[in-house]
Amino acid sequence: MTTTNSAPAPNFIRNIVAEDLKANKNDGRVVTRFPPEPNGYLHIGHAKSICLNFGIAAEYGGVCNLRFDDTNPSKEDVEYVESIKSDVRWLGFDWGDRLFYTSDYFEKLYDYAVQLIKEGKAYVCDLSAQEIREYRGTLTKPGKESPYRTRSVEENLDLFRRMRAGEFEDGSRVLRAKIDMSSPNMNMRDPTIYRIRRAEHHRTGNKWCIYPMYDFGHCLSDSIEGITHSICSLEFEDNRPLYDWFLDELNVDCHPQQIEFARLNLSYTVLSKRKLVQLVEQGYVAGWDDPRMPTIAGIRRRGYTPESIRNFCERIGVAKRDSVVDMALLEYCVREDLNERAPRVMGVLRPLRVVIDNYPEDQVEELDGPYHPEDPGMGSRKIPFSRVLYIERDDFREEPPRKFFRLAPGREVRLRYAYYVKCVRVVKDEQTGEVVEVHCTYDPETRGGWSTDGRKVRGTLHWVSSAHSLEAEVRLYDRLFQKANPSGEKDDLTTYLNPNSLETLTSCRVEPSLAGAAPGSRYQFERLGYFCVDSSDSSDGVLVFNRTVTLRDSWAKIEKKEIPT
Ligand code: ATP
Ligand code: MG
Repeated sequence: MTTTNSAPAPNFIRNIVAEDLKANKNDGRVVTRFPPEPNGYLHIGHAKSICLNFGIAAEYGGVCNLRFDDTNPSKEDVEYVESIKSDVRWLGFDWGDRLFYTSDYFEKLYDYAVQLIKEGKAYVCDLSAQEIREYRGTLTKPGKESPYRTRSVEENLDLFRRMRAGEFEDGSRVLRAKIDMSSPNMNMRDPTIYRIRRAEHHRTGNKWCIYPMYDFGHCLSDSIEGITHSICSLEFEDNRPLYDWFLDELNVDCHPQQIEFARLNLSYTVLSKRKLVQLVEQGYVAGWDDPRMPTIAGIRRRGYTPESIRNFCERIGVAKRDSVVDMALLEYCVREDLNERAPRVMGVLRPLRVVIDNYPEDQVEELDGPYHPEDPGMGSRKIPFSRVLYIERDDFREEPPRKFFRLAPGREVRLRYAYYVKCVRVVKDEQTGEVVEVHCTYDPETRGGWSTDGRKVRGTLHWVSSAHSLEAEVRLYDRLFQKANPSGEKDDLTTYLNPNSLETLTSCRVEPSLAGAAPGSRYQFERLGYFCVDSSDSSDGVLVFNRTVTLRDSWAKIEKKEIPT
């Protein structure tokens, strides 16, 4: 199989964990977590974080929690919770009984906030959101202290209790940490830690009308869970001093070590739930699991294997510096995996009728075709051959250009696993002049596709028998965006959507062995690429295939500098 089982390459995070273990830090425990906000489906960037967190725990005898940082009820939904769980499982990771939610800790977080108030380190502020922004200052200008900053502990305790009790309107007051309005780090300028929001929470219902802010909930949830290594993406580097402040001021038992790594960016797509939500909600794609989406659900439906994604995440490595990974690397990884595991079959996407003039009308032969050229263990199937066949329209040219080695008038080619056939004449549509049928003769001495007299042909074509083949719909995909970095542009993202990202072919013909092919099963259609039976739109008697990836190895085109070592 693929290289997923080889020893993981060292990286700076693994080094930190290994060093900590050597020094017996945290009493030799390793506890990590994957902490999604349930406000969208997971994408391939999250896969990097999942592989890292679960991978490190597994490698060092630790555990990894799945925790939902569900502090923003108006953006969250159980649909997202469920999809995230199934995506993590599908990727091959198991959190056992370690499924947690920040909302499980709401009471405890409230107590922490009260503790800060009691110690004079948090206050209720009545400034409006707009005023808070104005008072915050800028990177070059220090902020201004809120007039409510000097409220007494008693008043703050009373107001915060009444915020919880629902006495005040949404947005009328917030609880803020009292840190430093002139800190060069904007996160430290008295950040909001609680807000009033009457929104039904997908787990706590209407029990709460105040919710902790992400930064407050996130670092304390890590601490409550005894996380030893809090691995997160680079953009949280500036939040670390704030997390440290909360943890130090509250004097908690567990102070996780935060380690930042560069998030994954992938060319020709976007990896941000906010942007992906836009594509889904405005109908630019058919849903979160549209096979063009960089979501785990989309990639899965497209036909990617979990092994290929894990392998991709291992190959891209982890670094401290942001970079963009070429989509071709992801495609390379799935191609490499499917090359080993996908049975070979034949399907014709744009059929052209071929009649073998010298083949008996009623005769049908069952020819043998191995499922895999290098793996006899995968067995073989029978492929019916008869007088009327289909080949790919592209595989015939009436006037072949140079280097066209496929079928043309007077030319002989091999039909895979079958016979040599030679084109003797064509039938054209009288109106359009288009070739609608090709007539050939076959050489009975070439059964199996090999001549006995040493005669060679330059082309080998895939084909199906007209009467025996099955109709199928095939969806071909291209990049979702026309620009390598669509988010980096000034215009609206959707300006750069590729109008040809989906091509649907409805009259394809596939070999009969594919009857009843299970949804989600993957095949190589010889010469055409890897295809996966669509898990939503295929059913008994209706075959829909998604092309996962072409056979062409565009890896060769990736420039050396982009290959992570
Ligand atoms: P998005 O910007 O897509 O909404 P997010 O960071 O807000 O992503 P979360 O649900 O908070 O989404 O992410 C959970 C974890 O996944 C976080 O620890 C985050 O650092 C990590 N993560 C998110 N996007 C990427 C990415 N592109 N590459 C690596 N890790 C990522
Ligand atoms: Mg986030």
